[in-house]
Amino acid sequence: MTLLSVRDLTVSYPVRGPLAGWWTGQKRFVDVVCGISLDLAEGTTLAIAGESGSGKSTFARALMGLTPFRSGSLIFDGKAPFPARGRPARAYLHQVSMMFQDPVASLSPRRTIGALITEPFRIHRPDLRNLEAEAKRLLVLVGLPADFAQRYPHQISGGQARRVGLARAVALNPRLVIADEPTAGLDVSVQGEILNLMARLQAEQSVAFLMITHNLAVVRHMSDRTAIMYMGRIVEEGPTDRVFASPAHPYAAALIAAEPSSLPGHHRHSAALKGEVSSPLHRPDGCAFHPRCPAARPLCSATAPLPQVSASGALVSCHFPLQRTPDQ
Ligand code: SF4
Repeated sequence: MTLLSVRDLTVSYPVRGPLAGWWTGQKRFVDVVCGISLDLAEGTTLAIAGESGSGKSTFARALMGLTPFRSGSLIFDGKAPFPARGRPARAYLHQVSMMFQDPVASLSPRRTIGALITEPFRIHRPDLRNLEAEAKRLLVLVGLPADFAQRYPHQISGGQARRVGLARAVALNPRLVIADEPTAGLDVSVQGEILNLMARLQAEQSVAFLMITHNLAVVRHMSDRTAIMYMGRIVEEGPTDRVFASPAHPYAAALIAAEPSSLPGHHRHSAALKGEVSSPLHRPDGCAFHPRCPAARPLCSATAPLPQVSASGALVSCHFPLQRTPDQ
């Protein structure tokens, strides 16, 4: 069953400085997230992957109401939680939570770990009396000793801070957790521990994860579906095994080809990405990837491609996908 449906969501920021266009009397906006549509099924994981600056984190923040979106719609569990695109309904924030990219910075240094992980109860369940017991339950749930409740954020490691972030995110038994780079900055063994913990919580509590990451090994390991994002747009979306086995969008193919192989001494770099991502202020016409695309043709710089179904069943936005579509 579909838990979250996003349609044509666009996030824009006003342009400041010399490019603002103030002399025209009109504010100029730059689109950081451009018309994203996707669905997430209950109890599953959807990963959004792409290079830095692709708009992944902005999209995640928009879903939480932390960044306003300019247009588009969002349906969660059959209801629209953003009335007139304002602040999200309280009931929505009870069921949707976020693991932030920088777990230490997201924890107030003056509060104990116990106070931090029970904060969601203070906001959404003020009737709950025994917060100490809840803090202990949550710490044990994420594999930390119960006496961590007395510590302060500066007294714990990066991996422990991630666990605390996860404990806080699942405190209210949410149906959806938005995890922004859940393993960034951790060494490989701690990454594995955090991912296993997330997988266990998903199996036990049927929580859905929308995971934002640039780490394709994490995407492969964790997600049921994968969306590849480039300059604010999703360029390919489909079942993870199919997207990785036969990517149809040249950007998705290059990103996957550039992923370090898990085989010792073996590096895959046949279609390594060349060039830099363009600034959103100077978005290329047509397909935004065309200045870097080895398969670009004249049509690509003139007309933006529309999504179509690839031979593997993924949705791909490319005039010349690497595989033929079923009707070609
Ligand atoms: Fe490359 Fe053209 Fe496809 Fe864009 S539309 S990814 S430029 S082939």
